[in-house]
Amino acid sequence: MLTIKNLTASINDKPILRGIDLEVKPGEVHAIMGPNGSGKSTLANVLAGREDYAVTGGEVSWQGRDLLALAPEERAREGIFLAFQYPVEIPGVSNVNLLKAALNAKLKHLGREELDAYDFLALVKERMKLVQMREDFLYRAVNEGFSGGEKKRNEILQMAVLEPLLGILDETDSGLDIDALKIVADGVNTLRAPDRSFIVVTHYQRLLDYIVPDHVHVLAHGRIVKSGGKELALDLEERGYGWIAELERSTG
Ligand code: ADP
Ligand code: MG
Ligand code: MG
Repeated sequence: MLTIKNLTASINDKPILRGIDLEVKPGEVHAIMGPNGSGKSTLANVLAGREDYAVTGGEVSWQGRDLLALAPEERAREGIFLAFQYPVEIPGVSNVNLLKAALNAKLKHLGREELDAYDFLALVKERMKLVQMREDFLYRAVNEGFSGGEKKRNEILQMAVLEPLLGILDETDSGLDIDALKIVADGVNTLRAPDRSFIVVTHYQRLLDYIVPDHVHVLAHGRIVKSGGKELALDLEERGYGWIAELERSTG
């Protein structure tokens, strides 16, 4: 589904990703962990095609296509969704209008008919229950004045409405209290499906108690230095990231 080969990327000519290999199959949840500054957000942003990130080498194929050749909005239409570490506020655009525009763009791309206002609202309201959001959030400007937890829930709502094939969550857990964390995790777990994959980026193990990954990868200095099953996250929790630095030194 997603195949990353020897991907390298820079920000302002500074090499950040130094050769990433990763294969994500349909239905899998991959966790990307690692110390601050190891390149986790860079990887997420490169996959979403955000500006400021220059891909300097390697390949990314998405459902057999060259992902790197697609513009960010094309990637979104092809089923890739990125939830930001720092969700943006969009003054003057209501949540409901953003969701509607995004969903209609996707349906159009798939050659399907747009939902009428009634069906759209019914869908959104159903998905709002998933993240326990009150209806009045629909009519507020996107993320404006939302608390940290509300922004993250709003992202999961966007994802639930858009039903991507690949959901990328970048530290969706940061700054969440345990109740909000569980709501976010429940939302993701509900969306798990045989044809839908997730890349869950997190610095902490805690989120992975609730979203149980199939694979865990540890990033350090722009490389995946260790991969394993869900137990790797527990090891990290116990031993910290210090032993990863040692591992890196010993493997170069
Ligand atoms: P992580 O998400 O793992 O904490 P990031 O991908 O955010 O790491 O950052 C990786 C490295 O890239 C860090 O050294 C960081 O300082 C650097 N970096 C991130 N954004 C920028 C930027 N806009 N300009 C210059 N360096 C950046
Ligand atoms: Mg960081
Ligand atoms: Mg980050």
